[in-house]
Amino acid sequence: MTDQSPREVARQIAAKCAGVGILRIMEVCGTHTVSLYRHGIKAMLPDNLRLISGPGCPVCVSAQGYIDAACGLARRPGVVVCSYGDMMRVPGRTGTLQGRRAEGADVRVVYSALDAVEAAKTQPDREVVFIAIGFETTVAGHAAAVLTAQEQDLRNFSLLTAQKRVVPAMLALLAAGDVPIDGFVCPGHVSVIIGSKAYMEVVERYHKPCVVAGFEPVQMLSALLLLVEQTIAGEARLENVYPQAVEDDGNRVARRMIEEVFEPAAAAWRAIGSIPDSGLVLRESYRRFDALERFQLTIGPDYDPPGCRCGDVIQGKVAPEDCTLFGDSCTPTRPVGPCMVSSEGTCAAAFKYGGGSQPSRGRQKPGHVSWAPRN
Ligand code: SF4
Repeated sequence: MTDQSPREVARQIAAKCAGVGILRIMEVCGTHTVSLYRHGIKAMLPDNLRLISGPGCPVCVSAQGYIDAACGLARRPGVVVCSYGDMMRVPGRTGTLQGRRAEGADVRVVYSALDAVEAAKTQPDREVVFIAIGFETTVAGHAAAVLTAQEQDLRNFSLLTAQKRVVPAMLALLAAGDVPIDGFVCPGHVSVIIGSKAYMEVVERYHKPCVVAGFEPVQMLSALLLLVEQTIAGEARLENVYPQAVEDDGNRVARRMIEEVFEPAAAAWRAIGSIPDSGLVLRESYRRFDALERFQLTIGPDYDPPGCRCGDVIQGKVAPEDCTLFGDSCTPTRPVGPCMVSSEGTCAAAFKYGGGSQPSRGRQKPGHVSWAPRN
């Protein structure tokens, strides 16, 4: 790890970028997105280095049909819905989970899937459904919850899964080719579980450099410097500037637990559609914990709320400020789409740290808006 200051690393990036064309680096992880905005890193970078936010916020990538199914479940008598807080305010066709709770439904915010298991244990006469969204980092906890429920022979606990795998999404974006991407800052948290080697397919198949990074400004800038150097040299390697937390093979115990309970399957991503092997669903031997089967549910079609461009935002096709609702009819207190609801959403980060009360028309570099935030 470098002992240079963020400004020094930023200066090196600027020097490397001088005289070269536009470079486009995608940060895949929602936590990176927020951190980049919060620390003003985008403003430190030269204009020809463009950071593109990717599909790394689990709330934002959950398709609308899934939100509708969760809200529908909350209306069923005898059902307790347990959800992470960020999902509570994501609007579906008929409202939000928070709205359901206001109507009297039993919808609870939990901090882990094990909290939902505990709720099922203490209320055996109720059906407890956990809204299981997240990437591999959180899925490890979901697997632990299912194993606990199995051990305790709980018959009233199930998961409505919309769990995602990060690498298939990166591959799908590259295969689609809609957004030029020169390299990836790979997510620190997820990589702790899956390991840095997981990105080799991106490097080898698409000749795109990947650098795993933590969340401190100097870490992210160091990753950007390496990506810039590789891109300018026409190279594509996998590097890791977060070795204190991320090993080549990840966390084997967590991976084994995930593999025991879940298996890869096609998953629906907001606006992107179905991506093969990008989801994690319950294996046959744990299928009795599947809310879809238990309640004979089907997930309806995906759609964006009218005027909302979350689907384009999560694919890096537009910046939040390109959405005409940004900062106007869509704010963190009155969100229209999930990218403004979630604490890891690009629109929320742009509004809080780089955006403001009026939308910018046309493509503008995120973080370079000049008005003050409304709240
Ligand atoms: Fe959706 Fe709001 Fe973002 Fe527009 S500003 S894309 S409506 S979340």
